[in-house]
Amino acid sequence: MGGREPSTDESYQIYQDAEKDPSELCKAAEFLRNENKGRKVTYSRKVFFNLINLCRDTCSYCTYKSEPTQTKISMMSKYDIQNLVEIGRKYKCTEALFVTGERPEQKYQEARTWLKQNGFASTAEYLAHASEIALTAGLFPHTNAGNLTKAEMNELKKTNVSLGLMLENSVERLSEKGMPHEFAPSKNPKARIKVLENAGELGIPMTTGLLIGIGESPFELIDSIYAIRDIHKKFGNIQELILQNFQPKPDTAMKNNQGPHERYFKTLVALTRIIMPKMNIQIPPNLSPISYSGFLSVGINDWGGISPITPDYVNPEFPWPSIESVEKNCANAGFELRARFPVYPEFLSYVNSDLKSRVMEMADFDGLVKGEYLK
Ligand code: SF4
Repeated sequence: MGGREPSTDESYQIYQDAEKDPSELCKAAEFLRNENKGRKVTYSRKVFFNLINLCRDTCSYCTYKSEPTQTKISMMSKYDIQNLVEIGRKYKCTEALFVTGERPEQKYQEARTWLKQNGFASTAEYLAHASEIALTAGLFPHTNAGNLTKAEMNELKKTNVSLGLMLENSVERLSEKGMPHEFAPSKNPKARIKVLENAGELGIPMTTGLLIGIGESPFELIDSIYAIRDIHKKFGNIQELILQNFQPKPDTAMKNNQGPHERYFKTLVALTRIIMPKMNIQIPPNLSPISYSGFLSVGINDWGGISPITPDYVNPEFPWPSIESVEKNCANAGFELRARFPVYPEFLSYVNSDLKSRVMEMADFDGLVKGEYLK
């Protein structure tokens, strides 16, 4: 493309050409990755706080959401949070990832009672408090709690160095009858884009991403990459794009669907790098346990959060590889694994001065976690 970003039509064409032979696309993605990101690949050493997994919505692929009677229910008390924060510190974690279902209190009396017992009226209020506990103890909060309002995000901005919200896909077709988001109004792409834009107006670094292989066409996925690119062009606040491959889960409506073929997944990862050469692009290593290091050669530069102590509650069937084994696999592929904060170095200027100085105390010259904090 002679250094120029491709148009949507050009990207459709690149995809179609890559279907026959992806080698040229992959080579270009690898080149752009090395040009823009060097030979470092990052991860965030995290603790996963499964604050409450009741959820107002139902997505056909989700195994995270619980019903009140299920054994996987999680409703953390302030004491549970404090305890886990301390364990996280002991294990040298730097990120406190707070995850909840979508506005559980709108649907479940159990959630309203839990909030009341802990002294809060809404999940968002509790999240602000939980974030304060984590921050005070030296962990940096990153919250992923669905479609927060602008006011709620503004509150969380005081303690969270970044927030997360997956776009999943930008086409409304996936919300139609029989599609994965039929019973999940919060996954309506217009609603999600609005939240990402609100975060842009507030100057909050956002992690977002796409779920690949849930019934979309490759062209719809390309449109979705452009939807994220457009938000980033307008507000500059998208710090990271996760490309997550769908994995069927036994207790879900999509249990008999197949995950995306690796070649399709890799082609779209490579194309994302072409469309957004400077973006931080992540794939979760636990969802491609055998082949994850192969994605380094198609454009990724990050593995997302990896926890040495808590499971991936969103994908409990897929344990994270050990940080040591990821480091070894990266080294074998010629890359250096580095721990980052839940805010990428180039987005540190977005966070308030208190958060910024706390991060700087623990950061090296590159804005990554100093080695001494990980020993
Ligand atoms: S993916 Fe999120 S919004 Fe959908 S059911 Fe699961 S917890 Fe709820």
